[in-house]
Amino acid sequence: MGQKIEAALYLHVPFCQAKCLYCSFYSVPNALDLVPLYLKALREEIRLWTQRVSQYRFVTFYVGGGTPSLLEPSFYQEVLRVLSRELDFFPQECTIEANPEGLTLSKLKAYRELGFNRLSLGAQSLDPRGLKILGRRHQIRDILQAIDLACQAGFENISLDLIFAWPGQTLKTLRKELKSLLSLGIPHLSFYELTFEPGTRLHHEMLAGRISPLPEEEIVDMYYLIHQELEKKGFSHYEISNYARPGYQAKHNLFYWQARPFLGLGPAAASDVLGTRYKNISDLKSYLKALHQGVFPPREEERLSLEARFREAVVLGLRLLEGVSAPELKQRFGYDLRLYYGEDLDFLIRAGFLEWKGDCLRFTFPGLLVANQIQARLV
Ligand code: SF4
Repeated sequence: MGQKIEAALYLHVPFCQAKCLYCSFYSVPNALDLVPLYLKALREEIRLWTQRVSQYRFVTFYVGGGTPSLLEPSFYQEVLRVLSRELDFFPQECTIEANPEGLTLSKLKAYRELGFNRLSLGAQSLDPRGLKILGRRHQIRDILQAIDLACQAGFENISLDLIFAWPGQTLKTLRKELKSLLSLGIPHLSFYELTFEPGTRLHHEMLAGRISPLPEEEIVDMYYLIHQELEKKGFSHYEISNYARPGYQAKHNLFYWQARPFLGLGPAAASDVLGTRYKNISDLKSYLKALHQGVFPPREEERLSLEARFREAVVLGLRLLEGVSAPELKQRFGYDLRLYYGEDLDFLIRAGFLEWKGDCLRFTFPGLLVANQIQARLV
């Protein structure tokens, strides 16, 4: 066989203790009794993929959820054993998501010993009011303790997930949060703007008029403050929502943003392999049932044309602040970025939302603030 294609591997752990008020990720609360069946189904799903993805070498592994840290190390030991046996699996970056509450030193040490070398901690806020309104179960002291334990267990590549623009947050309180955050010495930070997703409790509260989103101008000021403060402290703002100290960019996520192949396992997981996009449906019971019968779980499937792939690569790549390289796109897809978008692109450049840096097209800072609208126009 010729040279293998590098790819990323994602595992979705669909279990949570309780549902956070803003959460629209697929997870099932109080269903840990299903973990043994889930493990069995996963083994089967991996086995079904084995032959089909033999052209790929999986160089990153990311366990997300849900709450992966609810599960014991023995679960991951078995998953890793099967992955190593069935796939060309040599991850250089191995991330596990964790919630701060309930983490113990022995669990973290065991994760570390299994090969996880990056911990993504769902801190969400360093302000007690933020944690309360988001419906998180942990306190600030749990976050600090989790970081301390993770360091003791040997994790030095730690990322914190944070949410900004929650009702009640102000520039002043955000400034204070950033100060506490920067004193923690964490090398990677993800800052997501709070969105009120339909179906969530927060969305319901908003419709009932009990809470309201912050005004747009305040959100813009907050985004700018985060950018400014973190860059001042040596972080590079490398993706719309992500900041890293040198050498700590998330390698796994780069596969998504660079429109490179990835395989997703578990309910709700998406894949982009063999020129096709798959998305397992978000339902644990039907996932278990199908795999018990030895077939792939119900899923959506879409085969994109080369042109659609090109457009998608442009839109995803623009999430990265370095932008997208025109020669690279030409080489991968055969389309010339300048010619393809023509007048549309000139307009966005003249309006100050996009700019060329050498051969790379990228967002300007004002462009980042309206990235969604611009991406919708280009896709
Ligand atoms: S935010 Fe995370 S911990 Fe909270 S319900 Fe969603 S997946 Fe579970």
